[in-house]
Amino acid sequence: MDTEVLIVGAGPTGLMLANQLARRGVNALIIDRHSGPSLQTRALGVQARTLEIYARMGIADRALALGRPATGANLWADGRRTGRVPLGSAGAGATPYPYILVLGQDDNERIMGDQLRAGGRDVQWNTELVALEQQSDGVTATLKDADGTTRAITAAWVAGCDGAHSAVRTLSGIDFPGAPYEHVFFVADVSATGSMVADEVNVYLWRAGFHLFFPMRGTDHWRIVGILPPALRDKPDLAFDAVVPSIRGEAGAGLNFSACSWFSTYRIHHRSAARFRAQRCFLLGDAAHVHSPVGAQGMNTGLQDAYNLGWKLALVLKGRADAALLDSYEAERIPIARRLLNTTDRAFRLVVSDSWLAGLLRTQVLARLAALAMKTERVQGIAFRTVSQIGIHYRESVLSQTLPGLPDAAPQAGDRFPWLKLRLRADRPVEDLFQTADDTRLHLLLFGQASPAEADLGLGDLLRTDVIPADPANDAELARAQIPRTSFYLLRPDGHVGLCGTQLDAAAIKAYAAARLGLQPLR
Ligand SMILES: Cc1cc2nc3c(=O)[nH]c(=O)nc-3n(C[C@H](O)[C@H](O)[C@H](O)COP(=O)(O)OP(=O)(O)OC[C@H]3O[C@@H](n4cnc5c(N)ncnc54)[C@H](O)[C@@H]3O)c2cc1C
Repeated sequence: MDTEVLIVGAGPTGLMLANQLARRGVNALIIDRHSGPSLQTRALGVQARTLEIYARMGIADRALALGRPATGANLWADGRRTGRVPLGSAGAGATPYPYILVLGQDDNERIMGDQLRAGGRDVQWNTELVALEQQSDGVTATLKDADGTTRAITAAWVAGCDGAHSAVRTLSGIDFPGAPYEHVFFVADVSATGSMVADEVNVYLWRAGFHLFFPMRGTDHWRIVGILPPALRDKPDLAFDAVVPSIRGEAGAGLNFSACSWFSTYRIHHRSAARFRAQRCFLLGDAAHVHSPVGAQGMNTGLQDAYNLGWKLALVLKGRADAALLDSYEAERIPIARRLLNTTDRAFRLVVSDSWLAGLLRTQVLARLAALAMKTERVQGIAFRTVSQIGIHYRESVLSQTLPGLPDAAPQAGDRFPWLKLRLRADRPVEDLFQTADDTRLHLLLFGQASPAEADLGLGDLLRTDVIPADPANDAELARAQIPRTSFYLLRPDGHVGLCGTQLDAAAIKAYAAARLGLQPLR
């Protein structure tokens, strides 16, 4: 084989997968048909779950230094501020990153690209995938270089991170059902002053659409995303000036623009691939699902597809797990994509419907209902967990097993294990569990019980074990997370709970590892 994994596409999804495989010692080749990184900002919102993953990769601090945390979202209708979602307080205690980090896609790609180079690997630019042929033990891929010459290479697996027009998807014969929206979006990076609440997201709902204002780095620098007024939809060569009257119309006459550095219009689709895998080829990111940008989920979902597949591919390629483990990638990520598509589609239709009734609903009923609902802490918490993606779980996955006896309120198998601060040893200070996490291994947390002998668990260096001592600080954290004082949690490398229960039985871990994860017994 020329390479263990061929990653097609060096957008955010491909770069995330390349980094995850590099960190785990997998030999991967990442190619892109463009001559270098994209300079367009495109996606802008980095969610808390992505920042948690960035922290594992050692790049969260750089992202935080470059980005701008938006700690609240303000809802405006008919020129009045009708409500505010306090992202900071809604997410406090649930994640180290209780906000949406406003950081352009180009910066995210640069940070991940630099990290890849720091590990001695790089993207092979000017290289396009043009053909694929699957065999039982690998894939032959035909690549076209900048001078038009083609060459064939072999890879054990192929990851299609090649965007909405994915060649991997087309060459694998996978359908991409869905439809385009009739609406045309515009995006503009501007310098502006007006009614917007500084450093926060501002959502202006109006009779014929919406405008989102995201705070960007610098003073009075905003990204505006909106839909074109129907009368402008089919006008060619549109410039920013054309949309200014409609923005002023509902964001207020006091809105002043001093510059526009980027303006673009685009149509969007809502589609999901029929399958996320064909034999040895996987689809991730926009190659697998595209949807409306409402909620700033697109880029983040692709990054998490890659995080889900990365550790599984590495275990299989290192000979530690059976290839059946890879079946769980599609089984876990398709439901997430479909749910996202449905919710963003429903939200999008509500905020863009052209009908008079929908316009009234949006500016009167929706704005008031949302404002009212957002006053309750519970609703704020649910909204934050959904948008931040920390609430994503794989409870239905074959990799998730909750043993009898664990209360329903406790974290269950498939959940992202909560962010806790624990004293890991009686003689050590309280530590941030996420800071100490090692996402290249399984992690067994034992509460109120001793650890079985390592040999009895049969996982060798793939397992890290922490026996959490009883202690007032630990007890308070367990109570907060509703974790019983006698319980155990076996975490997958991606921080989701694989197996959990009350009293640990070494045989249960062995059976789980063999039957569910397909781990090979140590010799
Ligand atoms: C104008 C605009 C605004 C957006 N705003 C938002 C937003 O606010 N929030 C949000 O979450 N999302 C937003 N999105 C969507 C977001 O940009 C995508 O979800 C994200 O880029 C997906 O990343 P990806 O890596 O999966 O695919 P892409 O970023 O599309 O990367 C695919 C890569 O594959 C390469 N490639 C394609 N075919 C081949 C081939 N045959 N061989 C080799 N290489 C190939 C391409 O050159 C490209 O570099 C926006 C998109 C657009 C267009």
